[in-house]
Amino acid sequence: MQAFRRSFSLSDMTPVTREILLSFWKVHILHHAASGPIYGLWLLNELAEHGHKLSPGTLYPILARMQRNGWLRATPGATARARRYLRITPAGQAVLEQLREFITQLHEEVVIGPNRRAPVCRGRRPAAREPKPGSGRRRA
Ligand SMILES: [Zn+2]
Repeated sequence: MQAFRRSFSLSDMTPVTREILLSFWKVHILHHAASGPIYGLWLLNELAEHGHKLSPGTLYPILARMQRNGWLRATPGATARARRYLRITPAGQAVLEQLREFITQLHEEVVIGPNRRAPVCRGRRPAAREPKPGSGRRRA
């Protein structure tokens, strides 16, 4: 997927792009916090690995908001300058589980699309199509 990676910096984002990506970043943060303790600098590097170059001035308010929402909990550092680790809370885990279902559905519809698989959207039914030869399921 390397070829599809694109770098996002805040300076070239439209407000709409930024608004949407804020949600993506929160999902990504919850995902990693569910695997173990995380901290700000690690997240900045992790998001940059995915092409999302956030500044600390963008990330830390997001983390503070996620803590206020009760999704992340910080462990107090031994000193004021000590690294503060963030862990997911049970409420954050519940949010992540909901989001995983939604993301799975969205992925099937938006990324995989109707040409490869029937869309999961129940609102409209696409016209039935014959499968192309060699494009998936075979008839018995
Ligand atoms: Zn990641």
